[in-house]
Amino acid sequence: MTGLVIRGSRNIFTLRDDGGGETECRIKGKVLKGVEGYYNPLAPGDRVEFEPDPEHPGTGLILSLLERRNAFTRFNQKGQSSQLLAANVDVVFCVTTPASPPFRPRFLDRALLQGDIANIPPVVVCNKYDLSDNDPDVEERLEDFIRIGYRVLRVSAHTGEGLDEFRDLAANRFSVLVGQSGVGKSSIINALAPGMGLKTGALTEKYDRGSHTTTMARLVEIETPAGPARITDTPGVRRLVPDGIGPGDLVFYMREFAPLAGRCSYGLSCTHVTEPGCKIMEAVAAGVIHEDRYESFLRIREELFLKESASEYGK
Ligand code: GDP
Repeated sequence: MTGLVIRGSRNIFTLRDDGGGETECRIKGKVLKGVEGYYNPLAPGDRVEFEPDPEHPGTGLILSLLERRNAFTRFNQKGQSSQLLAANVDVVFCVTTPASPPFRPRFLDRALLQGDIANIPPVVVCNKYDLSDNDPDVEERLEDFIRIGYRVLRVSAHTGEGLDEFRDLAANRFSVLVGQSGVGKSSIINALAPGMGLKTGALTEKYDRGSHTTTMARLVEIETPAGPARITDTPGVRRLVPDGIGPGDLVFYMREFAPLAGRCSYGLSCTHVTEPGCKIMEAVAAGVIHEDRYESFLRIREELFLKESASEYGK
């Protein structure tokens, strides 16, 4: 039998089979081939093969992972390994707010970067736009994200503004919502759902903040007029440490930096921090790269160096 992972922790997963039934499963033999090295072996969006567990009627045993097209991950500092947030993703919705909680463009920089690293198109969703008051600082950064090639949706789960556009992007796709707690991820899902018949559990029930569930993402399926939208909500992601690249790669993954990479006087060995003739620093001075983006670049680069030296040390 095959099933779709709709939620899970490190060792217990809920699968939905093709008939719509849900089965709680463990991994047969405890280790799943092909997913070694991850903090959690499976995430919502994964498809697996499973069989009934003869010792625990009503539950199942996962035998193998079917092809995983891509994975949206982050670096798990506690576990010092990659943590899977969602698999087989078509679009990453990076959710922020103009206010309450305050606008966090640095979180967006990281979420957008992680989408680009995983080759999953990321989209900025500025929710609670009803609270924006056209704040010039927020508008300036949103416009800059558009300028460097990202799609930006200004939405309000409360007034419904922008939700049609969101729904059109989510329909017939697997998507993942990332954003700090309180930005309105569950409200967006609930606003899309009324009268459309949720296929999975109640969304109003809040996530347990206990230690084992804080990393638990879950997939919900919503019927929209344009087709089913499968959305994975990722609670408890306060911080995103980029995963899957080293410090030297970063410049190639930040969209407006990449075309300039390698063109500095010091070529590929340029650190883009102090060297004369650095094209990145020139672009910051000329306003081609926003100084906040450069600040994000410096901070992320530093973290990636620390991560690299920690893993060298651990060898
Ligand atoms: P989550 O933690 O990201 O899932 O956030 P919630 O969906 O639980 O929303 C957090 C709070 O923000 C709740 O009190 C919501 O009513 C409120 N909220 C969500 N969306 C909007 C919105 O578009 N406008 C306003 N004004 N408040 C919102």
